[in-house]
Amino acid sequence: MSDLLSCEDYTARAAALDLPACAFINGKYMPAKSGKTFDTVNPATGEILTKIAACGAEDVDLAVEKARKAFDQGVWARLHPKERKAIMIQWVKLIKRHRYELAVMESLDSGKPIRDCASQDVPETVHCLSWYAEAADKLYGEISPTNDDAMGLIVREPAGVVACVLPWNFPMMMLAWKVGPALAAGNSVIVKPAEQTSMTALRLAELATEAGVPDGVLNVLPGLGEEAGVAIGTHMDIDVVSFTGSTEVGRLFMKYAAESNLKRITLECGGKNPAVVLSDAEHLDSVAEYVVEAVFWNMGENCTSNSRLIVHASLKDALMEKVMEKVKDWRTGDPLDPANALGAIVSQEQFDKIMGYIKGAKKEGAKLVLGGEPLKISNGLFIPPTIFDDVKPDMTIAREEVFGPVLAIMTVGSDEEAIALANSTCYGLQASVFTGNLKKALRAGRDLRAGTVSVNCYSEGDITTPFGGYKLSGFGGRDNSLQAFEQYTETKTIWIDLSDHEVDASL
Ligand code: NAD
Repeated sequence: MSDLLSCEDYTARAAALDLPACAFINGKYMPAKSGKTFDTVNPATGEILTKIAACGAEDVDLAVEKARKAFDQGVWARLHPKERKAIMIQWVKLIKRHRYELAVMESLDSGKPIRDCASQDVPETVHCLSWYAEAADKLYGEISPTNDDAMGLIVREPAGVVACVLPWNFPMMMLAWKVGPALAAGNSVIVKPAEQTSMTALRLAELATEAGVPDGVLNVLPGLGEEAGVAIGTHMDIDVVSFTGSTEVGRLFMKYAAESNLKRITLECGGKNPAVVLSDAEHLDSVAEYVVEAVFWNMGENCTSNSRLIVHASLKDALMEKVMEKVKDWRTGDPLDPANALGAIVSQEQFDKIMGYIKGAKKEGAKLVLGGEPLKISNGLFIPPTIFDDVKPDMTIAREEVFGPVLAIMTVGSDEEAIALANSTCYGLQASVFTGNLKKALRAGRDLRAGTVSVNCYSEGDITTPFGGYKLSGFGGRDNSLQAFEQYTETKTIWIDLSDHEVDASL
């Protein structure tokens, strides 16, 4: 499915796109009740792409009402699981049919390189949704180990109305990670995309309706966090919020839940992930390739970005030489040109934040060895791969999530120091470790405090493995794998008396 077209082709397709701009509620596009809109901007050119409905509390109320009605009527929740599966598979087919359109829309809205949108975001979205569609009719309950005179059924039921609040860095994929299991389990769903990237979520919901997902079951409410996001968080009739975004906003959702209806909250938040190169790491060519990919993929706008390289002093120079060589392949420029590996930074706000970290690192004494200055390309927001060496653990660049193409290199004198430094952060989402020694690999896998540890590679696992974070990187559950169903289902016990005794009617 990753058949790449030429830059001219993508540019022509971009010009011909019909851009969605309204909210999608109860199977229809509609403007926000207030009539308010916000601009969505192409970060590669600075042009306004379109004005999108800015949903507020009254739109959230309407979407929840429709979602609840659909849930209570059982049009989806009580549909035979094999029929839910069939409709989701039809949805996936439509996504595949519209793959070029979706890839271009994603790239225009977010600044992501088209080659990633076409070869990763769309195919991974398809794979994830197919995986959960296939799981829909394979979810079993349990029977508890009880006495002969009773039977305890442990039943999983859809939780009800689920809201998925999304970030802007992988708009389609994050939607699929959440909506896939939520729909497969039979819930009604409300998606709140990030305001920077609303378009593909809207189009995906339209395609779901075309595939046969009943009205009210999948709704998309574009809007600002302070308006639509708050209204979702504080709503009294939403059962679950599955959130991916910053730790700061994740905390707010826990507060919203505490102050409203104690809705279940799951948080997938930020990270300050390390690539740890131990003293006996082998194949430095491959290590360097992973190090570069792990930090610069998606312009570093990636929650598992390995933005810290912790390397043993004995390998430092050899590895650095290879990293500087590999990074030359990571060209920055027009996102619609498939030759480019880095596109534009998503927004002016994010661009300013990253440049602030770069200036701060210089000021605090880190040694700039690559990049560090924005590129002036057609009024867009472009920052090339940037590398700082001689970073000290107490520098801001070593501690805070940059969410941009910036690598901080720290050199250590022992493997123990490397692991301790890797763990010395408030986050714990992902860590990569490189070693030629099996015992050390297993020990590092055990000792690194992160939800995913990849050994001799950079990886988040895949759809079959749970994804989520320790410490400030996450709370309350995992995305991906069958574990994701825990987020979107309630557990019910049904206790049945099997004893022979007669009930005394006079009592
Ligand atoms: P963000 O927290 O600013 O926004 C996320 C969502 O929350 C958006 O939909 C936004 O509109 C909404 N929101 C913002 N303010 C709100 C408020 N006051 N009340 C309610 N809702 C509000 O995050 P972002 O900038 O879109 O994404 C970047 C962050 O996401 C990074 O920290 C990154 O690490 C994290 N992220 C984590 C994962 C993961 O799986 N762990 C994946 C991708 C991104």
